[in-house]
Amino acid sequence: MKDTRPPFRALEDLDPFLLFQTIPTPSFILDRRALRTDGEILKEVQEKSGCRILLAQKAFSNYDLYPLLSEYLAGTEASGLYEARLGKEEMGEKEVHVFSGAYREEEFAELLSYADHIVFNSIHQLEKFGPIAKKKGKSVGLRINPEFSTQIGHDIYNPCAAGSRLGVTYDNFVQGMKEKDFSLLDGLHFHTLCQQNSDDLEKTFAVVEAKFGRYFSSLRWINFGGGHHITREDYDRERLIRLVKRVRKQYGLEVYLEPGEAVVLNAGYLLTKVLDTFDNGTTHIAILDTSAACHMPDVLEMPYRPPLYGADFETNSYPIRLGSQTCLSGDVIGDYRFAKPLQEGDKLLFGDMALYTTCKTNTFNGMPLPSIYVLNEDRSIDKIASFGYADFKVRLGRKKEEMKK
Ligand SMILES: *Cc1c(COP(=O)(O)O)cnc(C)c1O
Repeated sequence: MKDTRPPFRALEDLDPFLLFQTIPTPSFILDRRALRTDGEILKEVQEKSGCRILLAQKAFSNYDLYPLLSEYLAGTEASGLYEARLGKEEMGEKEVHVFSGAYREEEFAELLSYADHIVFNSIHQLEKFGPIAKKKGKSVGLRINPEFSTQIGHDIYNPCAAGSRLGVTYDNFVQGMKEKDFSLLDGLHFHTLCQQNSDDLEKTFAVVEAKFGRYFSSLRWINFGGGHHITREDYDRERLIRLVKRVRKQYGLEVYLEPGEAVVLNAGYLLTKVLDTFDNGTTHIAILDTSAACHMPDVLEMPYRPPLYGADFETNSYPIRLGSQTCLSGDVIGDYRFAKPLQEGDKLLFGDMALYTTCKTNTFNGMPLPSIYVLNEDRSIDKIASFGYADFKVRLGRKKEEMKK
Protein backbone atom coordinates (compact mmCIF):
# COMPACT_ATOMS: atom_id res chain seq x y z
CA MET A 1 0.00 0.00 0.00
CA LYS A 2 1.57 3.25 -1.14
CA ASP A 3 0.07 6.70 -0.81
CA THR A 4 1.42 9.22 -3.30
CA ARG A 5 -0.75 12.19 -2.31
CA PRO A 6 1.18 15.38 -1.42
CA PRO A 7 0.95 14.94 2.38
CA PHE A 8 2.83 11.63 2.06
CA ARG A 9 4.97 12.27 -1.01
CA ALA A 10 8.22 12.77 0.90
CA LEU A 11 7.94 9.17 2.15
CA GLU A 12 8.41 8.06 -1.45
CA ASP A 13 8.43 4.25 -1.66
CA LEU A 14 8.96 3.61 2.03
CA ASP A 15 6.36 1.85 4.14
CA PRO A 16 5.80 4.40 6.92
CA PHE A 17 4.62 1.79 9.41
CA LEU A 18 7.88 -0.10 8.98
CA LEU A 19 9.88 3.12 9.03
CA PHE A 20 8.15 4.33 12.20
CA GLN A 21 7.78 0.94 13.91
CA THR A 22 9.89 1.89 16.93
CA ILE A 23 8.13 5.22 17.50
CA PRO A 24 5.58 5.17 20.33
CA THR A 25 2.05 6.45 19.73
CA PRO A 26 0.85 9.14 19.66
CA SER A 27 3.79 10.99 18.09
CA PHE A 28 4.29 13.84 15.70
CA ILE A 29 6.99 13.26 13.09
CA LEU A 30 8.46 16.26 11.28
CA ASP A 31 9.95 15.46 7.87
CA ARG A 32 13.12 17.34 6.95
CA ARG A 33 12.92 16.41 3.26
CA ALA A 34 9.41 17.81 3.00
CA LEU A 35 10.45 20.96 4.87
CA ARG A 36 13.22 21.49 2.35
CA THR A 37 10.79 21.08 -0.53
CA ASP A 38 8.69 23.91 0.94
CA GLY A 39 11.82 25.94 1.68
CA GLU A 40 13.14 25.65 -1.88
CA ILE A 41 9.84 26.96 -3.27
CA LEU A 42 9.82 29.92 -0.88
CA LYS A 43 13.45 30.71 -1.64
CA GLU A 44 12.76 30.72 -5.37
CA VAL A 45 9.77 33.06 -4.90
CA GLN A 46 11.97 35.45 -2.94
CA GLU A 47 14.75 35.33 -5.52
CA LYS A 48 12.42 35.89 -8.45
CA SER A 49 10.23 38.57 -6.88
CA GLY A 50 12.53 40.31 -4.42
CA CYS A 51 10.11 39.89 -1.52
CA ARG A 52 11.17 38.76 1.95
CA ILE A 53 9.41 35.77 3.52
CA LEU A 54 9.06 35.25 7.28
CA LEU A 55 7.84 32.21 9.22
CA ALA A 56 4.66 33.01 11.15
CA GLN A 57 5.59 31.10 14.28
CA LYS A 58 2.04 30.68 15.51
CA ALA A 59 1.66 27.95 12.87
CA PHE A 60 4.95 26.19 13.62
CA SER A 61 7.54 26.82 16.29
CA ASN A 62 9.56 23.61 16.55
CA TYR A 63 12.84 25.45 16.83
CA ASP A 64 15.00 22.37 16.26
CA LEU A 65 14.03 22.85 12.62
CA TYR A 66 14.76 26.60 12.53
CA PRO A 67 18.38 26.12 11.38
CA LEU A 68 17.03 24.26 8.33
CA LEU A 69 14.35 26.89 7.69
CA SER A 70 16.84 29.73 8.12
CA GLU A 71 18.52 28.58 4.91
CA TYR A 72 15.39 29.67 3.07
CA LEU A 73 13.69 32.45 5.04
CA ALA A 74 14.37 36.08 5.92
CA GLY A 75 13.23 35.69 9.51
CA THR A 76 10.30 35.13 11.82
CA GLU A 77 6.98 36.75 12.62
CA ALA A 78 5.73 36.70 16.20
CA SER A 79 2.38 37.33 17.86
CA GLY A 80 3.93 38.54 21.08
CA LEU A 81 6.83 38.47 23.49
CA TYR A 82 7.49 34.74 23.71
CA GLU A 83 7.41 34.06 20.00
CA ALA A 84 9.57 37.13 19.37
CA ARG A 85 12.14 35.81 21.83
CA LEU A 86 12.02 32.35 20.30
CA GLY A 87 12.60 33.76 16.82
CA LYS A 88 15.49 35.87 18.08
CA GLU A 89 17.07 32.98 19.99
CA GLU A 90 16.63 30.21 17.48
CA MET A 91 16.45 31.52 13.89
CA GLY A 92 19.96 32.93 13.81
CA GLU A 93 20.80 36.42 12.56
CA LYS A 94 17.47 37.00 10.88
CA GLU A 95 14.70 39.58 11.07
CA VAL A 96 12.18 39.44 13.90
CA HIS A 97 8.77 41.02 13.23
CA VAL A 98 5.98 41.33 15.79
CA PHE A 99 2.30 42.03 15.51
CA SER A 100 0.05 41.97 18.55
CA GLY A 101 -3.52 43.13 19.13
CA ALA A 102 -2.06 45.32 21.89
CA TYR A 103 1.27 45.55 23.71
CA ARG A 104 1.81 45.65 27.48
CA GLU A 105 3.83 48.47 28.99
CA GLU A 106 5.78 46.20 31.32
CA GLU A 107 7.06 43.97 28.54
CA PHE A 108 7.64 46.50 25.79
CA ALA A 109 11.30 47.16 26.59
CA GLU A 110 12.07 43.45 26.51
CA LEU A 111 10.12 43.07 23.28
CA LEU A 112 12.25 45.80 21.71
CA SER A 113 15.38 43.83 22.59
CA TYR A 114 14.19 41.04 20.25
CA ALA A 115 12.17 42.74 17.52
CA ASP A 116 13.25 44.59 14.38
CA HIS A 117 9.77 45.44 13.12
CA ILE A 118 6.88 46.29 15.46
CA VAL A 119 3.40 46.44 14.00
CA PHE A 120 0.62 48.16 15.94
CA ASN A 121 -3.07 47.39 15.80
CA SER A 122 -4.41 50.86 16.59
CA ILE A 123 -3.40 54.49 16.22
CA HIS A 124 -3.51 54.82 19.99
CA GLN A 125 -0.92 52.05 20.42
CA LEU A 126 1.18 53.58 17.65
CA GLU A 127 1.19 56.90 19.50
CA LYS A 128 1.84 55.24 22.86
CA PHE A 129 4.71 52.93 21.91
CA GLY A 130 5.84 54.13 18.45
CA PRO A 131 8.17 56.89 19.71
CA ILE A 132 10.02 54.48 22.06
CA ALA A 133 10.36 51.93 19.27
CA LYS A 134 11.68 54.57 16.88
CA LYS A 135 14.18 55.80 19.44
CA LYS A 136 15.53 52.25 19.65
CA GLY A 137 15.95 52.21 15.87
CA LYS A 138 13.05 49.85 15.18
CA SER A 139 10.93 49.82 12.06
CA VAL A 140 7.36 50.78 12.93
CA GLY A 141 4.21 49.62 11.18
CA LEU A 142 0.45 49.82 11.48
CA ARG A 143 -1.97 47.04 10.66
CA ILE A 144 -4.79 48.14 8.42
CA ASN A 145 -8.12 46.45 7.83
CA PRO A 146 -8.96 46.69 4.11
CA GLU A 147 -12.56 45.67 4.95
CA PHE A 148 -12.47 43.39 1.95
CA SER A 149 -12.61 39.64 2.21
CA THR A 150 -12.09 36.90 -0.35
CA GLN A 151 -12.92 34.21 2.22
CA ILE A 152 -16.27 32.56 2.43
CA GLY A 153 -17.46 30.67 5.47
CA HIS A 154 -15.24 30.36 8.55
CA ASP A 155 -15.41 33.82 10.13
CA ILE A 156 -13.14 32.66 12.96
CA TYR A 157 -10.27 33.05 10.47
CA ASN A 158 -11.56 36.20 8.79
CA PRO A 159 -10.00 39.44 10.07
CA CYS A 160 -12.31 41.43 7.79
CA ALA A 161 -15.54 40.02 9.20
CA ALA A 162 -17.95 42.59 10.60
CA GLY A 163 -16.88 43.79 14.03
CA SER A 164 -13.25 42.72 13.56
CA ARG A 165 -10.77 43.99 16.15
CA LEU A 166 -7.81 43.49 13.81
CA GLY A 167 -6.45 46.43 11.87
CA VAL A 168 -7.33 50.10 11.41
CA THR A 169 -10.16 50.74 8.97
CA TYR A 170 -9.84 53.33 6.21
CA ASP A 171 -12.21 55.77 7.93
CA ASN A 172 -10.35 55.53 11.22
CA PHE A 173 -7.04 55.91 9.42
CA VAL A 174 -8.07 59.05 7.54
CA GLN A 175 -9.71 60.63 10.58
CA GLY A 176 -7.20 59.50 13.20
CA MET A 177 -3.72 59.75 11.67
CA LYS A 178 -1.99 63.00 12.56
CA GLU A 179 1.22 64.33 11.11
CA LYS A 180 3.28 63.07 14.05
CA ASP A 181 1.77 59.59 13.51
CA PHE A 182 2.82 59.58 9.87
CA SER A 183 6.33 60.57 10.90
CA LEU A 184 6.54 57.39 13.00
CA LEU A 185 5.35 55.09 10.26
CA ASP A 186 7.70 52.95 8.17
CA GLY A 187 5.19 50.49 6.84
CA LEU A 188 1.68 49.10 6.58
CA HIS A 189 0.60 45.56 7.32
CA PHE A 190 -2.52 43.70 6.27
CA HIS A 191 -3.48 40.10 6.91
CA THR A 192 -6.78 38.95 5.46
CA LEU A 193 -6.13 35.64 3.70
CA CYS A 194 -6.37 32.05 4.87
CA GLN A 195 -5.16 29.13 2.71
CA GLN A 196 -5.61 31.25 -0.39
CA ASN A 197 -4.19 31.61 -3.86
CA SER A 198 -2.51 34.63 -5.45
CA ASP A 199 -5.63 35.76 -7.34
CA ASP A 200 -7.24 36.48 -3.96
CA LEU A 201 -4.15 38.38 -2.89
CA GLU A 202 -4.31 40.37 -6.12
CA LYS A 203 -7.95 41.30 -5.48
CA THR A 204 -7.17 42.22 -1.87
CA PHE A 205 -4.16 44.30 -2.80
CA ALA A 206 -6.21 46.21 -5.38
CA VAL A 207 -8.51 47.31 -2.54
CA VAL A 208 -5.58 48.16 -0.25
CA GLU A 209 -4.03 50.17 -3.06
CA ALA A 210 -7.23 52.03 -3.87
CA LYS A 211 -7.74 52.99 -0.24
CA PHE A 212 -4.23 53.47 1.12
CA GLY A 213 -2.08 53.78 -2.02
CA ARG A 214 -1.66 57.53 -1.71
CA TYR A 215 0.23 57.03 1.54
CA PHE A 216 2.71 54.51 0.11
CA SER A 217 5.21 57.12 -1.07
CA SER A 218 6.25 58.00 2.48
CA LEU A 219 6.73 54.35 3.51
CA ARG A 220 9.59 51.85 3.30
CA TRP A 221 7.72 48.58 3.33
CA ILE A 222 4.41 46.80 3.09
CA ASN A 223 3.63 43.46 4.72
CA PHE A 224 1.06 41.25 2.96
CA GLY A 225 0.53 39.11 6.10
CA GLY A 226 0.00 35.35 5.88
CA GLY A 227 -2.56 32.96 4.43
CA HIS A 228 -0.67 32.60 1.14
CA HIS A 229 -0.68 28.89 0.29
CA ILE A 230 2.47 29.35 -1.79
CA THR A 231 3.76 25.78 -1.52
CA ARG A 232 0.48 24.13 -2.52
CA GLU A 233 0.53 22.36 -5.89
CA ASP A 234 -2.06 24.59 -7.56
CA TYR A 235 -0.76 27.90 -6.17
CA ASP A 236 -0.11 30.41 -8.96
CA ARG A 237 3.37 31.59 -7.97
CA GLU A 238 3.98 33.54 -11.18
CA ARG A 239 1.02 35.76 -10.33
CA LEU A 240 2.42 36.41 -6.85
CA ILE A 241 5.85 37.21 -8.29
CA ARG A 242 4.33 39.65 -10.83
CA LEU A 243 2.43 41.47 -8.09
CA VAL A 244 5.42 41.76 -5.76
CA LYS A 245 7.65 43.02 -8.56
CA ARG A 246 5.11 45.63 -9.56
CA VAL A 247 4.65 46.90 -6.00
CA ARG A 248 8.39 47.11 -5.43
CA LYS A 249 8.94 48.95 -8.70
CA GLN A 250 5.95 51.28 -8.68
CA TYR A 251 6.17 52.35 -5.03
CA GLY A 252 9.76 51.55 -4.09
CA LEU A 253 8.49 49.45 -1.19
CA GLU A 254 10.10 46.40 0.37
CA VAL A 255 7.47 43.62 0.35
CA TYR A 256 7.15 41.12 3.20
CA LEU A 257 5.07 37.94 3.32
CA GLU A 258 4.62 36.02 6.55
CA PRO A 259 2.98 32.68 5.79
CA GLY A 260 2.72 30.04 8.48
CA GLU A 261 1.06 27.08 6.81
CA ALA A 262 2.95 27.40 3.53
CA VAL A 263 6.32 27.13 5.27
CA VAL A 264 5.56 23.67 6.64
CA LEU A 265 2.80 22.43 4.34
CA ASN A 266 2.70 18.61 4.18
CA ALA A 267 5.86 18.41 6.28
CA GLY A 268 4.65 16.36 9.25
CA TYR A 269 2.75 13.27 10.31
CA LEU A 270 0.88 12.12 13.39
CA LEU A 271 1.31 8.44 14.21
CA THR A 272 -1.52 6.98 16.28
CA LYS A 273 -2.87 3.58 17.32
CA VAL A 274 -6.34 2.04 17.39
CA LEU A 275 -7.28 1.23 21.00
CA ASP A 276 -10.73 -0.21 20.34
CA THR A 277 -13.30 -0.73 17.59
CA PHE A 278 -17.04 -1.32 17.76
CA ASP A 279 -20.30 -0.75 15.98
CA ASN A 280 -22.80 1.48 17.78
CA GLY A 281 -25.75 0.33 15.64
CA THR A 282 -25.45 2.97 12.94
CA THR A 283 -21.72 3.61 12.65
CA HIS A 284 -18.44 1.74 12.81
CA ILE A 285 -16.22 3.44 15.34
CA ALA A 286 -12.52 3.31 16.16
CA ILE A 287 -11.11 4.90 19.29
CA LEU A 288 -7.57 6.23 18.79
CA ASP A 289 -4.89 7.24 21.26
CA THR A 290 -4.88 10.74 19.77
CA SER A 291 -7.47 13.50 19.95
CA ALA A 292 -8.70 16.22 17.63
CA ALA A 293 -9.46 18.49 20.58
CA CYS A 294 -6.04 18.02 22.21
CA HIS A 295 -3.59 17.32 19.40
CA MET A 296 -5.05 18.81 16.22
CA PRO A 297 -7.57 21.43 17.40
CA ASP A 298 -7.87 22.98 13.92
CA VAL A 299 -9.70 19.81 12.85
CA LEU A 300 -12.57 21.06 15.05
CA GLU A 301 -11.97 24.81 14.69
CA MET A 302 -11.73 25.09 10.91
CA PRO A 303 -13.18 22.41 10.68
CA TYR A 304 -11.44 19.97 8.32
CA ARG A 305 -10.75 16.27 7.87
CA PRO A 306 -7.00 15.61 7.90
CA PRO A 307 -5.42 13.38 5.25
CA LEU A 308 -4.87 9.81 6.41
CA TYR A 309 -2.33 7.45 4.87
CA GLY A 310 -3.99 4.89 2.62
CA ALA A 311 -7.54 6.15 3.16
CA ASP A 312 -9.18 6.20 -0.24
CA PHE A 313 -12.76 7.38 -0.56
CA GLU A 314 -13.21 6.18 -4.13
CA THR A 315 -12.39 2.52 -3.87
CA ASN A 316 -12.25 1.56 -0.21
CA SER A 317 -15.38 0.01 1.17
CA TYR A 318 -15.05 -0.07 4.96
CA PRO A 319 -16.33 3.19 6.40
CA ILE A 320 -15.29 4.04 9.92
CA ARG A 321 -15.46 7.04 12.22
CA LEU A 322 -12.17 7.87 13.94
CA GLY A 323 -12.60 9.34 17.40
CA SER A 324 -10.70 9.98 20.56
CA GLN A 325 -10.48 8.67 24.12
CA THR A 326 -11.76 11.96 25.56
CA CYS A 327 -15.27 12.54 26.90
CA LEU A 328 -16.01 15.38 24.47
CA SER A 329 -18.72 14.00 22.15
CA GLY A 330 -17.45 16.02 19.23
CA ASP A 331 -13.86 14.85 19.60
CA VAL A 332 -14.04 13.08 16.27
CA ILE A 333 -11.28 13.34 13.69
CA GLY A 334 -13.51 12.32 10.83
CA ASP A 335 -15.19 9.60 8.78
CA TYR A 336 -12.81 7.58 6.63
CA ARG A 337 -12.83 4.50 4.40
CA PHE A 338 -10.39 1.62 4.57
CA ALA A 339 -9.58 -1.33 2.34
CA LYS A 340 -10.14 -3.72 5.26
CA PRO A 341 -11.76 -3.36 8.69
CA LEU A 342 -9.64 -1.67 11.31
CA GLN A 343 -8.52 -3.68 14.31
CA GLU A 344 -7.27 -2.99 17.77
CA GLY A 345 -3.53 -2.31 17.64
CA ASP A 346 -3.52 -1.06 14.02
CA LYS A 347 -1.43 2.04 13.50
CA LEU A 348 -2.63 5.01 11.48
CA LEU A 349 -0.74 7.95 10.02
CA PHE A 350 -2.31 11.38 9.56
CA GLY A 351 -0.63 13.73 7.07
CA ASP A 352 -0.01 17.47 6.90
CA MET A 353 0.48 17.49 10.65
CA ALA A 354 3.27 20.07 11.04
CA LEU A 355 1.04 23.15 10.96
CA TYR A 356 -1.06 24.42 13.88
CA THR A 357 -0.50 21.15 15.76
CA THR A 358 2.64 20.79 17.90
CA CYS A 359 2.38 24.44 18.99
CA LYS A 360 -1.34 24.17 19.69
CA THR A 361 -1.67 20.97 21.73
CA ASN A 362 -3.28 20.86 25.17
CA THR A 363 -3.90 18.29 27.90
CA PHE A 364 -7.70 18.59 28.18
CA ASN A 365 -9.08 15.44 29.86
CA GLY A 366 -5.57 14.75 31.07
CA MET A 367 -4.65 13.53 27.60
CA PRO A 368 -0.93 12.87 27.22
CA LEU A 369 0.92 15.12 24.78
CA PRO A 370 2.34 13.36 21.70
CA SER A 371 6.11 13.02 21.51
CA ILE A 372 7.83 14.89 18.71
CA TYR A 373 10.26 13.17 16.34
CA VAL A 374 12.23 14.33 13.33
CA LEU A 375 12.64 12.23 10.20
CA ASN A 376 16.06 13.18 8.88
CA GLU A 377 17.05 13.44 5.25
CA ASP A 378 18.84 10.08 5.38
CA ARG A 379 15.56 8.72 6.86
CA SER A 380 17.06 8.18 10.29
CA ILE A 381 14.88 9.32 13.17
CA ASP A 382 15.57 11.55 16.19
CA LYS A 383 13.35 12.30 19.16
CA ILE A 384 13.25 16.02 19.97
CA ALA A 385 10.62 16.09 22.74
CA SER A 386 8.54 13.83 24.92
CA PHE A 387 6.16 14.61 27.75
CA GLY A 388 4.64 13.06 30.81
CA TYR A 389 2.42 13.60 33.83
CA ALA A 390 4.58 16.51 35.02
CA ASP A 391 3.77 18.50 31.87
CA PHE A 392 0.06 18.10 32.59
CA LYS A 393 0.36 19.02 36.26
CA VAL A 394 2.78 21.92 35.99
CA ARG A 395 0.17 24.29 34.53
CA LEU A 396 -2.43 23.56 37.17
CA GLY A 397 -1.06 24.47 40.53
CA ARG A 398 1.77 24.92 42.97
CA LYS A 399 5.01 23.40 41.88
CA LYS A 400 6.13 20.62 44.17
CA GLU A 401 9.85 20.32 44.89
CA GLU A 402 9.98 16.83 43.57
CA MET A 403 7.45 15.82 41.00
CA LYS A 404 7.20 12.12 40.45
CA LYS A 405 6.84 11.15 36.81
C1 LIG B 1 -2.07 33.75 11.29
C2 LIG B 1 -1.21 34.84 10.80
C3 LIG B 1 -0.21 34.57 9.86
C4 LIG B 1 0.03 33.21 9.27
O1 LIG B 1 -1.11 32.72 8.63
P1 LIG B 1 -1.10 31.34 7.80
O2 LIG B 1 -2.54 31.16 7.45
O3 LIG B 1 -0.61 30.27 8.69
O4 LIG B 1 -0.24 31.54 6.61
C5 LIG B 1 0.59 35.63 9.48
N1 LIG B 1 0.41 36.87 9.98
C6 LIG B 1 -0.55 37.16 10.89
C7 LIG B 1 -0.68 38.54 11.41
C8 LIG B 1 -1.39 36.16 11.32
O5 LIG B 1 -2.34 36.44 12.21
